[in-house]
Amino acid sequence: MYTKQIPLVCLLQTGWEEWQFYDWQFFLLAIPVVFIYGICIGSFLNVVIYRLPAGESLIKRASHCMTCGAKIRIRDLIPIFSWVFLRGKCHSCGEPISPRYPIVEGLNGLVYVACFLAFGLNWNMVLMCIFSSLLIVIAFMDWDTMEMDLRVLAGILVISIPSFFVTDLTIWERLIGAASIGVPFLLIGEISRIVIRKKTGDDIRGIEQGDTILMAVSGFYLGWKPMIPAALIGIFLAAICGLILKRITGESKFAFGPYLCIGLFFGAIFGEELTIWYIARYITPLLEPEVQSYTSDLLHSLPLRL
Ligand SMILES: [Zn+2]
Repeated sequence: MYTKQIPLVCLLQTGWEEWQFYDWQFFLLAIPVVFIYGICIGSFLNVVIYRLPAGESLIKRASHCMTCGAKIRIRDLIPIFSWVFLRGKCHSCGEPISPRYPIVEGLNGLVYVACFLAFGLNWNMVLMCIFSSLLIVIAFMDWDTMEMDLRVLAGILVISIPSFFVTDLTIWERLIGAASIGVPFLLIGEISRIVIRKKTGDDIRGIEQGDTILMAVSGFYLGWKPMIPAALIGIFLAAICGLILKRITGESKFAFGPYLCIGLFFGAIFGEELTIWYIARYITPLLEPEVQSYTSDLLHSLPLRL
């Protein structure tokens, strides 16, 4: 059993009295280190987000200006800060550099700090950081191209293997996790495809295959408990943002992936606790007493992280 011996989580559970027992100086020192590490990895994520869809090599060519092709100087490679010092312009041609570069870097720094606060400094946190970075790449690539790269999605499956050794998740929890959202998404996608083809003749799905694969592999990595809040957050966000985008652009087709990725990130951070709390609070009391004790045993035998 691995525990979240983290001030933030313990603080929420036990209140201020417990806070003094934690080594808060360590956390104050570690947070900036984790953040700086995150923004450096974020810098590489930018390369992946722009080069992978274009079919360019990730390592062969040095970072270059998207407009004039000038090689970026070493001193201009510092994440976030260089963009601020250059005031968002290329040093050679003066053309604006997209603010998305520092945004992706900063975002990756923030999600690493969130993973650190939620999981502590351990191997599970390392895997969760990789998972979050993969989500950022998937979200931005889907936003740009409306497509997901299978190699990036396969990355989530790859980190599931070491995840077997650092979490208590069983193979069954993982398989149920993969099917819990993956199967409904697959069915909705295929049924909507038939309906849309009959109505308009277009060969499109209401939920694209990339979204289905994303939820299936993430379910295998996270297990079923984080997947329910993850899917709910994702679908809810997509519905709201889809309506807003439609009003702005008049386009009803939009990338679903970014919202699913946001849902998956929050699902990974606190989804398990949320599901357990919900079942214990609202589902269990509705059941017959003998079933109640069974579900309560079942819930307690499951790996509680808190
Ligand atoms: Zn330039």
